Formats: sequence, C-alpha cells, structure tokens
Amino acid sequence: MAVPKRKVSPHRRGNRRSHDSLKVEAHHECDNCGELKRPHNLCSHCGFYNGREIVAVGV
Ligand SMILES: [Zn+2]
Repeated sequence: MAVPKRKVSPHRRGNRRSHDSLKVEAHHECDNCGELKRPHNLCSHCGFYNGREIVAVGV
C-alpha cells in the first residue's frame, strides 16, 4: 500500500531497506581451468563439466 513519504520514519524506512542489499553470487573454481564458475554449471571459460568437455569453446 502506498504511504506518504513523510509518514514513514527513518527508522521504519531503514528496517524495510535492511533486506534490499544484493547477495554475493555463489562461485567456485573450475576443476579444469581454475576460472571461477557457478557451482553445478558448465564452465563458461573452458566448456567443461564434471571432468568432460561438454561444449567446444572456439578459439
Ligand atoms: Zn573451466
């Protein structure tokens, strides 16, 4: 529900915004090339997943 700006105290506004911060994305080093990648995802740098090359990365 919309509430006039001046009706919301700094304390209450701060409480609401306490959940607004962005979380750090999960990341892990690739077993093949050592680049950071997201866990359970294909490595975007070398195309490997679980020790196998899934996608050929063109040079
Ligand atoms: Zn990799």
